Amino acid sequence: MARIFLSYASEDRDRARELAADLETLGWAVWWDHKLQAGKTFAGVIESEIKKSDCVLVLWSKASITSRWVRDEANEGLERGVLVPALIDAVYNGADITVLLLDNHTTAMTGGQDHAGTGRTLRGEPAPRVDFEALVRAAGVTWVRKVDSYDLAVVHQTLREAIAHRGVSVVISDRPCVIDPVRIKGPALQVVEPQCNACQSCMNLGCPALTWSEATFEGRHKVKIDASLCIGCSLCAQVCTADCIRAPEATLQ
Ligand code: SF4
Ligand code: SF4
Repeated sequence: MARIFLSYASEDRDRARELAADLETLGWAVWWDHKLQAGKTFAGVIESEIKKSDCVLVLWSKASITSRWVRDEANEGLERGVLVPALIDAVYNGADITVLLLDNHTTAMTGGQDHAGTGRTLRGEPAPRVDFEALVRAAGVTWVRKVDSYDLAVVHQTLREAIAHRGVSVVISDRPCVIDPVRIKGPALQVVEPQCNACQSCMNLGCPALTWSEATFEGRHKVKIDASLCIGCSLCAQVCTADCIRAPEATLQ
């Protein structure tokens, strides 16, 4: 079971109690300092509990932002890479913001070790993955949408709705990382070269599988796809102005 260390200022104790109860209802083990036992060193117990936790959830508020204890706990979480910035203060104060949570199911830059967001333990065994939507809702956010990062039309529409929403809105962009060891790989797409108008719209994606072709249209290079690098995500096909990026079987029709 994932362990959450809840950091808060004493002025926010009632809200912390409510949040801890909500999180425990959702199945998480929550440690917050009301569990301190008499006779134990405050700082020592706090440090030990943070080290045992999978994430540090900080209730940022007008009170906690000036609390040395809360800042120290947040820094400890940040150094361990387990800090989850809380949305509590934004919700509480009616901030008008949109937060984009990029969930790629893996660990960036450090080699893909498993953690509470991957659904596997460090031994590779299945484990309950952190439910980010439930986590965000537990922080008080009521406007939450989850979208497939590769469905551009839905992403655009959802972002428009999120920005138009008054208050805190959260969009969870959900798609496994393309270089995850257990990557999702579909058949490579192809460019129907005679139809390509060299608009270069697809090249703006920055996908390494898209390269310039020797063929040109009105002086501009057309595009081709390196099948060895393409994972068939379809992003380029979604932005193609000539509808000329297709699956191999479709290019034969
Ligand atoms: S389908 Fe995806 S991976 Fe393949 S070329 Fe297009 S954008 Fe790149
Ligand atoms: S978006 Fe389509 S038409 Fe434009 S350059 Fe790419 S393949 Fe050609």
